[in-house]
Amino acid sequence: MEYNADNVFAKIIRGELPIQKIYEDEYALAFYDIHPKAKVHALVISKALSTDFSDFIDHSSDDEISGYMRAITKTITLLGLDESGYRLVFNTGSDSGQEVPHLHVHILGGEKLQTENL
Ligand code: AMP
Repeated sequence: MEYNADNVFAKIIRGELPIQKIYEDEYALAFYDIHPKAKVHALVISKALSTDFSDFIDHSSDDEISGYMRAITKTITLLGLDESGYRLVFNTGSDSGQEVPHLHVHILGGEKLQTENL
């Protein structure tokens, strides 16, 4: 799939939409999901313009991949979820229900999570 710069997360990276920011560095931007599905629900998006997880891993440098992964753990720590635990979800493609075609991971936690579909 071609990357389409009209998607909502591309607009967020360009500063065109407001967010509740949690963390930012050169590789990633973390903010709260606008429709939380758990007591704590954050998103970490890459600054690389990738459509999804597979596209990101296949077409990014090792520095970009490790930088993005470290931004995820930094966000988890800032959210205070290290000890209580959390779930990471990369929706990818139509069967997953991925809505926004820009790489992002959901961080879910802050309560006991449902295990349906896991
Ligand atoms: P996905 O189904 O994995 O593509 O998830 C996209 C997520 O982005 C959903 O959970 C939405 O609630 C969230 N979302 C969409 N627009 C915004 C926004 N402007 N700010 C924060 N979260 C958003």
